[in-house]
Amino acid sequence: MELLNLSTIVKAKYLFRLDDANSFSSLKKWHAIECIFQKYDIKPIVAVIPENKDPALMYQNLNPNLWKMVQDWDAKGWTIAMHGYQHLFHSISRFQ
Ligand SMILES: [Zn+2]
Repeated sequence: MELLNLSTIVKAKYLFRLDDANSFSSLKKWHAIECIFQKYDIKPIVAVIPENKDPALMYQNLNPNLWKMVQDWDAKGWTIAMHGYQHLFHSISRFQ
């Protein structure tokens, strides 16, 4: 007895989203992941922090070429998203 009808199996699709791209990202790590996506023709979403102020995401000195990198990702067909303006949390009262 055949439990699965193979003609009805849908090919899996995946979405990759790379969060926290910012002016202090590790360029070495970004370059490595970029090469992998390029090699397999994967077009991820890159979520960019326009003006990062989160010290937890400062892995190296300021990269003045972030926006050139963003333009290059866009030119490769990658989707650019915004991921928080400064990546800072704001305390709010939930019981007003
Ligand atoms: Zn984040």
